[in-house]
Amino acid sequence: MKAVVFQGDNDVAVEEVDEPEIKNPNEVVVDITTTAICGSDLHMYEGRTDAEPGLVFGHENMGIVEEVGEGVTTLSEGDRIVLPFNVACGFCRNCEAGYTGFCINVNETGSVPAGGAYGYVGMGPYQGGQAEKLRVPYADFNALQLPEGDEHENSFALLADIFPTGWHGTRLANLQPGESIVIFGAGPVGLMAAYSAKLQGASEIYSVDRVPSRLDLAEEHCDSTPINFEEGDPTEQIKDEHGGEVDKGVDAVGYQAIDPETEAEDKDEYSPARENPAVVLNQLIDTVRPTGQLGIVGLYVPSDPGAPDETSAAGRLGIDFGRLFEKGHRFGTGQCDVKRYNRRLRDMIIEGRADPSFLVSHRVGLDDAPEMYEAFDSREEGVTKVLLEP
Ligand code: NAD
Ligand code: ZN
Repeated sequence: MKAVVFQGDNDVAVEEVDEPEIKNPNEVVVDITTTAICGSDLHMYEGRTDAEPGLVFGHENMGIVEEVGEGVTTLSEGDRIVLPFNVACGFCRNCEAGYTGFCINVNETGSVPAGGAYGYVGMGPYQGGQAEKLRVPYADFNALQLPEGDEHENSFALLADIFPTGWHGTRLANLQPGESIVIFGAGPVGLMAAYSAKLQGASEIYSVDRVPSRLDLAEEHCDSTPINFEEGDPTEQIKDEHGGEVDKGVDAVGYQAIDPETEAEDKDEYSPARENPAVVLNQLIDTVRPTGQLGIVGLYVPSDPGAPDETSAAGRLGIDFGRLFEKGHRFGTGQCDVKRYNRRLRDMIIEGRADPSFLVSHRVGLDDAPEMYEAFDSREEGVTKVLLEP
């Protein structure tokens, strides 16, 4: 079958790979109908991780059940499902408490945590779904059923990761109706956070980015005030506009944040300012009022002596912790527990109360993946969320 295979820094190719097979009775194999490219894939694509060539990418997957293991009880051949990007067992202490992004079970090899993801370095032995087919472990737990047919295909695909993740950002910030909120980043995750804030009744929403087409989407679909960080310090811009600090804040950028102080003007050269990976975190602390709350869903990596130098350094951030302490901020971090939200968000889509599909700028065949990786990676104008249809 065809799959998107990592080749090395800034290079993916569509290649023939072996078809997945059921390895344990609790698994299914899915025919992928839609799979997405994510900002998280770019950490591997740009060479910030030690991902090995040969890895099949893709953790945002949906499709039709093709083969069912004999221990699976709730899924049948032909079922249409979307797969949370987290692979979780469903019965460990964390899964039972709803923290399915932090499953602490061990998988069949006994050495790798089940708490993993499809097609992601360091997150278990699971191939990605940017391919014609995908093996789904612990399938009863790791699938969300969808109505038959092909309605809402683009919206449902966003339930694998970024719609729940954007929502999670606002929940980690404990946003309440009528409160104001700033979202750093208007990439797919940031836009989903701004959209979630709108759905949850925020009074005012500010979206910070520098890509005009992304800021336009924030304004048009999320009723968010666009703040271009290239036009001046975002904290000052927001305080001027709002008349002071805002109630809550979300970081939807992560450790690859651009520091406008050091970043060259050239937008074609997307070179993350790794010397200052905490730039957004410090701006967030400055922009949110004392005792406000922060939701940090942009990705940060641990300092790991085994990892490439820059990646390792990025784990030890220059956060102004004293300023955070002074302001009495609370904050939440980490991978989204997709299953905590995806059922409710699915039902909002079905009932017409949410339509996150405005985000999808491209829906293309698998063969176009290399070109689309390049365009999404350079945050090209108008390239917001790319869905692949194998
Ligand atoms: P993305 O990386 O394209 O989005 C980041 C956006 O931030 C871009 O539009 C970029 O222009 C903007 N940006 C860069 N520097 C900035 C700055 N200083 N201030 C404001 N904006 C800035 O793609 P994405 O898919 O939206 O991913 C965003 C982050 O979320 C990534 O780090 C990704 O790994 C992470 N992520 C986390 C989870 C989770 O479960 N916690 C899930 C999915 C993605
Ligand atoms: Zn993702």
